[in-house]
Amino acid sequence: MPELPEVETTRRGIDAVITGKPLRRLVVHEARMRWPIPAELPALLAGRTVIECNRRGKYLLLRFEHGVQIVHLGMSGSLRVVPQQAFLRKHDHVEWLFDHATLRLHDPRRFGAVLWHPDEDGPVENHPLLARLGIEPFDPRFDGRWLHRHFQKRGMAVKQALLAGSAVVGVGNIYCSESLFRAGVDPRTPAGKISLPRCERLAQAIRATLSDALESGGSTLRDYVGASGEPGAYFAIHAAVYERAAQPCKVCGTPIRRLVQGQRATYFCPHCQKR
Ligand SMILES: [Zn+2]
Repeated sequence: MPELPEVETTRRGIDAVITGKPLRRLVVHEARMRWPIPAELPALLAGRTVIECNRRGKYLLLRFEHGVQIVHLGMSGSLRVVPQQAFLRKHDHVEWLFDHATLRLHDPRRFGAVLWHPDEDGPVENHPLLARLGIEPFDPRFDGRWLHRHFQKRGMAVKQALLAGSAVVGVGNIYCSESLFRAGVDPRTPAGKISLPRCERLAQAIRATLSDALESGGSTLRDYVGASGEPGAYFAIHAAVYERAAQPCKVCGTPIRRLVQGQRATYFCPHCQKR
């Protein structure tokens, strides 16, 4: 599943190519995504210029003069710049045709979304899909105190509290296990029991883990025009615990353990990570 680093990598990749450029045509090959793609969208966007490519959580926000196109990659989606004559593949559902480039949304499972938020409806941040999202992990307001305040009185395990995304966005399943390992926090610890200094370490670990992923994402970015490689494959190589069950911890040698929390796999080192 594309996680925040992959979506941010995508944003950087497309921003460099389409910002400031007029969209000639939007072509919808398959409108049945998570929600139907609005039928009027091609007419609304033809000839309009992309002002900015932003991101909020895992939503890409393509700002036009008169509104914002909201794009989500769902479970299996990718948005790539392809050569204009590139053969249309199965599951290529939407194309943004610019004079110099073509952008394609490829999504085998069709859990992705392409929506439209007109300026008349107010700031896009208030869109129902975005309004309740937690803070961005690279927002300067996100720190240990922020986490500590959000965790207070929460009995649920810290792993699940983070995955819920209401305290901070972008800590998906892989990054959650990795961040907790880096901070030395047992994933089963009740969120409300984590002290302020440990929340401080955890906030730093989350930022460091996501930065590392973004940095490795840089290599994927170079492949954009060639449209090769699927997002998400690059991070596992550097994982300290994720999908390493029974393998020795890279710090202490203790076998990594796997457990299931809320139907999601969690990986941790029982020696390095404390309750
Ligand atoms: Zn260890």
